Amino acid sequence: MELQQVGQGDSVSQPTGPSPELAAEIADVACRLAASGPEEILAWACERFGSRLTMATAFGVEGCLIIHFLAKLSSDVRVFNLDTGYQFVETLEVRQKILQRYGMEVEYVRPETTREEYEKLHGGPLYGVRPDQCCHDRKVIPLRRALAGYSAWISSIRKDQTADRGQAKVVQWDAKFNLVKVNPLLNWDKSAVWKVVLNEKVPYNSLHDQGYPSIGCQPCTTAVADGEDERSGRWRGKVKKECGLHVVEHSDGSGI
Ligand code: SF4
Repeated sequence: MELQQVGQGDSVSQPTGPSPELAAEIADVACRLAASGPEEILAWACERFGSRLTMATAFGVEGCLIIHFLAKLSSDVRVFNLDTGYQFVETLEVRQKILQRYGMEVEYVRPETTREEYEKLHGGPLYGVRPDQCCHDRKVIPLRRALAGYSAWISSIRKDQTADRGQAKVVQWDAKFNLVKVNPLLNWDKSAVWKVVLNEKVPYNSLHDQGYPSIGCQPCTTAVADGEDERSGRWRGKVKKECGLHVVEHSDGSGI
């Protein structure tokens, strides 16, 4: 089919939803690539969106694998990390490992306030008392800013991680941020990810070898015991299981 050009009107600053043509294209591609591997999905996304494609990574193992695939595609996709000020030292070290291995400089996207300024403003850290606000201020708002002007973004979610993620498609409209979202690893499970990471010596966060299958900010992440759900160490003891970046939101029926 003829591919519609995604222009400025599709940027995240104007929450208008996809045009009917784009919505149809997304539905068609999501169906066509539903059983495709991550490299094929990424190749499509790079070809389709070019410099208007971007990627957010928290330097988890899935994000590292996608970066590995992007490097093989010789793509110049802008990759960024939401640096909340609360990340583990081991997480920040992954950025250096990626630079050494691929020559790729992952950009830091930061909130407007430093960690110290933020805590002073609120009389202390919010992650223990109001984690939703903390994630909104230090992840969601910076992400919205980072996605402005882009037509599509790549995420590293997997379908088997949460019920919300189980509803996602490999290519979908992201109603929350008003652009196309590409999920190349959606249908892979943890063992498939690790198999390639270990075989191809993809750099990864050393915390994964210390009982941290899912890694977020340091104050909100603990190691997990054998047999526990892989996200049970995120906001342990709280109902919260997502930072708000990948929560299902519907808009005009076009959301995931
Ligand atoms: S994960 Fe924790 S520290 Fe990080 S932004 Fe969310 S609440 Fe704040």
